[in-house]
Amino acid sequence: MADKLAFLDEELQALKEQGLFNTIRTIGSPQGAWLIVDGKKVLNFCSNNYLGLANHPRLKEAAQKAVAEFGVGPAAVRSIAGTLSLHLELERRLAQFKGVEAAISFQSGFNANLATIPALVGEGDVVFSDELNHASIIDGSRLSRAKIVRYPHADPDSLEKAISQESGYKRGMIISDGVFSMDGDIAPLPQIAEIAASHNLLLMVDDAHGEGVLGRGGRGIVDHFGLHGQVDIEIGTLSKAFGVVGGYVAGKAKIVEWLRQRGRPFLFSSAVTAADTAACIAALDLLEESGALVDRLWENTRYYKAQMQRLGFDTGKSETPITPVMLGDAPLAQKFSRRLFEEGVFAMAIGYPTVPQGKARIRVMISAAHSKEDLDQGLVAFQKVGKELGVI
Ligand SMILES: *Cc1c(COP(=O)(O)O)cnc(C)c1O
Repeated sequence: MADKLAFLDEELQALKEQGLFNTIRTIGSPQGAWLIVDGKKVLNFCSNNYLGLANHPRLKEAAQKAVAEFGVGPAAVRSIAGTLSLHLELERRLAQFKGVEAAISFQSGFNANLATIPALVGEGDVVFSDELNHASIIDGSRLSRAKIVRYPHADPDSLEKAISQESGYKRGMIISDGVFSMDGDIAPLPQIAEIAASHNLLLMVDDAHGEGVLGRGGRGIVDHFGLHGQVDIEIGTLSKAFGVVGGYVAGKAKIVEWLRQRGRPFLFSSAVTAADTAACIAALDLLEESGALVDRLWENTRYYKAQMQRLGFDTGKSETPITPVMLGDAPLAQKFSRRLFEEGVFAMAIGYPTVPQGKARIRVMISAAHSKEDLDQGLVAFQKVGKELGVI
């Protein structure tokens, strides 16, 4: 009989041939400016640890204390016996930080999207979705069974046109990433908010790469544009700038209450642990005490990008610490990444389906944890490999 898994051999082989096979490296150290990767010490240009909090002593101490006080496992879903006082404190603190009525935490940003979109729209409704939105928005939208209308990336005029072509739906919702994770550009949120208001549509923004980065002291994209009260739903993650793990939704109290009643990942999957939750609260303490880490992140970002451009690299249209180094061809991007690794720099190649075909790149993630010497060392490696491979 035929091998019923033969299709996987073919699929995996095809990925390898197209330069799209993802070789996952093993990390043997805490997250920081430097990592031990597959046993080798390398400069870390990959992680979303924007502020260096993933190994911060205050967060670690908070996590350890929480383990001593609450143990390790939540033992039930939040709605049965898994809601700790720490979860509620985190939610209060997140709402305060974001300047909204309420917040609800989830196991991840991905789950926050899977919970929220199907809870707010369904059959007979329409989701207007930026074509470069994160996979979790796409999946959440599909789960909702609402009609999905993709509009051209970050283009308010096309969004307006797409809206005018739809009629007869019950509810409509516009969803956009705040900062686009592979290009580092910022959504034109003021225009989108105006469009949402004029058509009486719900507006949801995923601020995963905006919080801890944009706005006063890292309060995110809504604060960055001064749009408080004009965005109905903000999705956040606690795994990027916050340095821990988890996700959340911030907005009006009744939206948060509805998600507590009907958000399926909230109802049917256990919560993040006490240690994670306490560490997130400690991250909020740090962010509210001082904007120094956010300032440092931006100083590093400006320096690194200016130097990369001076060397002749195309860093796309990024406006944030996400720095794509555009290479086009997926095998070239993979080769570039391998050579960088040999030169002591860990920077991943990103190809289809994470980015469109023909838009492969190396994605450099700048962090407040990098010193100027670290960045200079990275620049030397990029220059060497870039010349060697005929990119610059
Ligand atoms: C990273 C990311 C997520 C997922 O966050 P996790 O907490 O890692 O699940 C969701 N949305 C966007 C836009 C992201 O960049």
